[in-house]
Amino acid sequence: ELKSFEGNIRFDQVSFTYPDTGITALKNVSFEIKKGQFAAIIGRTGSGKSTLANLMMRMYDVDSGNITIDRHPIKNLQLGPYRNQIGFVPQEVFLFSDTIKNNIAFGLDQVEQQEVEMAARNAAVYQNIINFDLKFETMLGERGITLSGGQKQRVSIARALIKEPGILIFDDCLSAVDTKTEEEILGNLGRIMKGKTSILIAHRISTIKNADVIIVLEDGQIIEQGTHQEL
Ligand code: ATP
Repeated sequence: ELKSFEGNIRFDQVSFTYPDTGITALKNVSFEIKKGQFAAIIGRTGSGKSTLANLMMRMYDVDSGNITIDRHPIKNLQLGPYRNQIGFVPQEVFLFSDTIKNNIAFGLDQVEQQEVEMAARNAAVYQNIINFDLKFETMLGERGITLSGGQKQRVSIARALIKEPGILIFDDCLSAVDTKTEEEILGNLGRIMKGKTSILIAHRISTIKNADVIIVLEDGQIIEQGTHQEL
């Protein structure tokens, strides 16, 4: 059993077809992301980026090929502990009718206020939160306030960061934040994910300019792979 990740990720000839629709979303996808690297996945809408992230999170099993972490096929790992080591920010933000604090600390047993605040700072949403009367105790949802799209994304990012994950996966979760805020978050990630592995699915060039490896998907296949300079 894998106690904690080094963070070397490999896809080996991975193919996947959604069982309900028969849409083949990934075809023979192979790549490697090494421990400590910042990888960016780009490609048009429908090219398979979210599918790649979902397969990494084991929402589905691959049809053929293999996904490994530190040489362990992920399908052999215990699902709960495996997922717990990954900070995953999905494209669709899920917030609960609960306080901001509980939304950030979601899934964790015991959390210090300080850790919640640090996660909020790193996700560049701290200042927004303390401007509310009840600060971190502010209720969200039906009985509370409605956050902007960008604020929701950043609360969702804080939820991933508070876990201090070995691997971070962002599925297009900076789309609703402005470029200056994005820069702030990416700077924080560079610091807190140093030596760890990050995968960002992105649209803007500004998001990926510092990536160690850029993977370009088209119609479920990798059409280009390399650094910003190489591509
Ligand atoms: P976007 O940039 O719009 O998020 P994407 O690159 O993330 O797109 P995917 O969401 O991975 O693309 O979709 C790849 C293909 O799989 C598309 O043809 C899409 O319609 C299909 N697909 C995605 N999710 C599902 C699903 N849950 N069930 C069936 N087909 C799906």
